[in-house]
Amino acid sequence: MATLQNGYSKKKQLDVVVVGAGLVGSLEAVYLAKRGHRVRLYEFREDIRKTPTARGRSINLALSVRGRRALRDVGLEAHMVKEHGIPMTGRRIHRTDGSTYAIPYDANTKQSIYSVGRNYLNGLLLQESEKYENVERYFNHKLIEANLKKGSLTFLKTDTNETVHVTADLIIGADGAFSAVRKAMTKRPFFDFSQKYIEHGYLELCIPPDDNGGFQMPPNFLHIWPRGEFMMIALPNQDCSWTVTLFMPFTKFKNLDTEEKLLAFFEKYFPDSIPLIGRKKLIEDFFAESPSPLVAIKCRPYHVEDKALLIGDAAHAVVPFYGQGMNAGFEDCTLLDELFQKHNDSLAEILTEFSETRWEDTFAVSDLAMYNYIEMRDLVTRTSYRLRKAMDDFIFWLLPNFWVPLYNSVTFSTMPYSQCIKNREWQDKILKRTLSFAGLALVIGGAVSFKIKYYGLY
Ligand SMILES: Cc1cc2nc3c(=O)[nH]c(=O)nc-3n(C[C@H](O)[C@H](O)[C@H](O)COP(=O)(O)OP(=O)(O)OC[C@H]3O[C@@H](n4cnc5c(N)ncnc54)[C@H](O)[C@@H]3O)c2cc1C
Repeated sequence: MATLQNGYSKKKQLDVVVVGAGLVGSLEAVYLAKRGHRVRLYEFREDIRKTPTARGRSINLALSVRGRRALRDVGLEAHMVKEHGIPMTGRRIHRTDGSTYAIPYDANTKQSIYSVGRNYLNGLLLQESEKYENVERYFNHKLIEANLKKGSLTFLKTDTNETVHVTADLIIGADGAFSAVRKAMTKRPFFDFSQKYIEHGYLELCIPPDDNGGFQMPPNFLHIWPRGEFMMIALPNQDCSWTVTLFMPFTKFKNLDTEEKLLAFFEKYFPDSIPLIGRKKLIEDFFAESPSPLVAIKCRPYHVEDKALLIGDAAHAVVPFYGQGMNAGFEDCTLLDELFQKHNDSLAEILTEFSETRWEDTFAVSDLAMYNYIEMRDLVTRTSYRLRKAMDDFIFWLLPNFWVPLYNSVTFSTMPYSQCIKNREWQDKILKRTLSFAGLALVIGGAVSFKIKYYGLY
């Protein structure tokens, strides 16, 4: 048994093909390379480092603890967080009158999520893969056919129209929400699959830096304009601009078909954003693209015998409202790496255990993401929500090992997502009971003073 430079020992070098060099596929390639396996990474698009930022796909993303843990494993966390991440300590809510107030994510331990550039992170992971001689990268290769049981794949070279046939010990499908690897799995018996398009879409706008090149809004927040049925959010970029995303029912987007209607709509719901974006830019950017749809995908099992596995969005695309899609995909890579270690690279055991243990958590994060849209666009404005959050934070402060609020467990811990939901259900029951006992006065008294101290009176 050989021992590698990085301390891993391995029995046999596996020949792995990873389909998709997006965030998750690129990270997985590095994890596998670290274990000493041969990795061939096939990507439909041009190398992302050579193409300018495409509009229409989120330009920045919120990185939280699960994603950070994976980046730490491959030696990139500190660089990403300290040098290329902008901490967001909480939500900053914009009322229609233009006034704002902050709701910290974690008033007790003061943890933040980090706004990171999608392309930068993807490029960084690809660059990291170049440090390993056992990784080969093939761009402009589109998977068009797969025989997963045999471990064989056919790619179309999009620049020359040639076809390329490839075989591997293991195929990893990291080819996103519309995965071609998953498509090949759907023909197999007992493969369950569901796809849900929500009635809301999204469109990205931009708040540019101010005249001095600085931020036009306080940068260490995720800004939200919650408007009940729809919302707008903004995440900071390193160049001091903001990526602004409007989430709204498609029917509403459709109604905004003239400049006058668009401006009237913004004057009514997001008046403070108009001078920040700029009238001309708002009109140009809004009409430059159509709103994009949002899809949630659940499927299982994720594997085919000891030959193929789905990870990332290919296995579990979620709506973006918990900021967990990439984080969950990165967590897939971490868990998979642990299973490689546990089962000493024995593929049948690794893939079976991943499939059997992961689905419950990815289904859970999908449900959490759907719920969080309602919280972000509507509940955050309600007193009942803020009182509950204050209670949660107060008890968390009092008993940090016993009571972890839902948002903290999802975002700032690696608690399995399904456990986060069970935890919340259990907390709901306790609170209901507590409210009917004499302790009620004590909890509310404490929560109210906590709320006033950290959130002000309103
Ligand atoms: C608006 C929005 C905001 C988001 N915000 C967040 C956030 O704040 N935090 C967070 O954690 N997540 C967020 N997400 C989710 C996140 O973007 C995804 O979960 C993440 O990109 C998934 O990575 P992936 O590598 O699995 O898939 P992808 O990023 O889709 O990459 C798949 C890759 O496979 C390639 N590919 C596809 N088909 C083929 C083929 N046939 N052959 C070869 N290659 C192929 C594609 O070109 C692509 O490069 C957001 C998503 C959206 C839409």
